[in-house]
Amino acid sequence: MAEKLTAVKGMNDIAPPVSAHWEWLEQTLRALMQRYGYRNIRTPIVEPTALFIRGLGEVTDIVEKEMYSFEDRLNGEQLTLRPENTAGVVRAALEHSMLYDGGKRLYYMGPMFRHERPQRGRYRQFHQFGAEALGFAGPDVDAELIVLACDLWAELGLTGIELEINSLGQPAERLAHRQALIAYLEQHAAVLDEDARRRLHSNPLRILDTKNPAMQDVVNGAPRLMDHLGSESLDHFNRLRGLLDAHGITYRINPRLVRGMDYYNLSVFEFVTTQLGSQGTVCAGGRYDGLFEQVGGKPAPAVGWALGMERILELLKEQDLLPAQPAPDAYAVVPDAAIVPRVMPVLRLLRQQGVAVQMHAAGAEGMGSMKSQFKKADASGARFALIFGPDELEQNRVAVKPLRGPRPGEGAEQAPGQVLQSLAEVALWAPSLRGA
Ligand code: ATP
Ligand code: MG
Repeated sequence: MAEKLTAVKGMNDIAPPVSAHWEWLEQTLRALMQRYGYRNIRTPIVEPTALFIRGLGEVTDIVEKEMYSFEDRLNGEQLTLRPENTAGVVRAALEHSMLYDGGKRLYYMGPMFRHERPQRGRYRQFHQFGAEALGFAGPDVDAELIVLACDLWAELGLTGIELEINSLGQPAERLAHRQALIAYLEQHAAVLDEDARRRLHSNPLRILDTKNPAMQDVVNGAPRLMDHLGSESLDHFNRLRGLLDAHGITYRINPRLVRGMDYYNLSVFEFVTTQLGSQGTVCAGGRYDGLFEQVGGKPAPAVGWALGMERILELLKEQDLLPAQPAPDAYAVVPDAAIVPRVMPVLRLLRQQGVAVQMHAAGAEGMGSMKSQFKKADASGARFALIFGPDELEQNRVAVKPLRGPRPGEGAEQAPGQVLQSLAEVALWAPSLRGA
């Protein structure tokens, strides 16, 4: 036998029954975005490498060590599998002049790629759902996006997700803070790790984001960016806080929250949980007013967030909130393979009437015994078995047998016994099979 091939490390197959959880989450997200007026955008998975270098910044975890970059063998172009999708959305907005008639609210979902050490909640191909509000400057859209995420948690039933916020101010304010920060960190050079020492003069702010336990004391005592903000930045931050208060949304101000990309300014935020081990950030984002210019366009304000779908699903599982597997309404029991040509068109009619029906399919030994067929019918979770027995077919009828009692709320009467239904009048009785 040939050597068995496996998926690339850190990249997962999503198959039934788990894929049903994904579809349910995606559906919930789409419906929520629709209510908030956000519309879907789909950009390519491969982008020019320069988009991420310019958009995210050279001295970031992603650009320094996590990108899947390669040269197109045919034309020598430098390409990268997208590690995130904000830069791609901004590129697309510029390329198609999407902001010519005002701001746009957009959402996306799909795979992202980062070469990280795979572990629980951290994969090399993972999936993000993201929301971006392009062309709006005020803190009202910042608040809208945060409220939207809170609504998502509520709708999914998730609890224990906490909001942290901070302000990164504007570039000039960060510059003033930077001097103070470098001076402080230089005094503590002995405790800085290799990453921190390398970033001390290129991107000292990012050091505050360190996950190294040995450096926590030092970063906790570092000069706070918040103390270097001017009145406009503080005003934006305070208005955001006021809007969150107006919704009764609680949050913690985390002065060390700096986010992993250079493109952020003013509001930044993360939703975190303690229930997922060390990969506890489930959703993160902020304002990125500088990104449009960074990728070669006219400046435009923007704000957005991305959530890690694997982490949300993991948390849903942790809190026992995943929905039951979808089951067919009916399972067709077919005693004799010779009648399949009569059965299949009936099942098609039922499906055209909105009934989910699964047909017992032949195995290598034919259709199998009635007993084994009923076992399959039961395992399918269907509420009804449709029995295409020879006597019934003779009269142009099918036997409909309930496999389960009535659903909650359907009345307390006994589950009805088997009934015969006319194959000439499928449309009349099909609705009685349909799920709620
Ligand atoms: P972390 O600090 O955990 O590395 P990040 O700051 O790199 O996160 P973002 O780029 O802000 O993450 O991505 C937004 C969200 O996407 C994260 O909050 C997380 O839920 C999810 N995410 C990021 N990287 C991964 C990954 N490798 N595997 C699974 N989910 C991820
Ligand atoms: Mg990361």
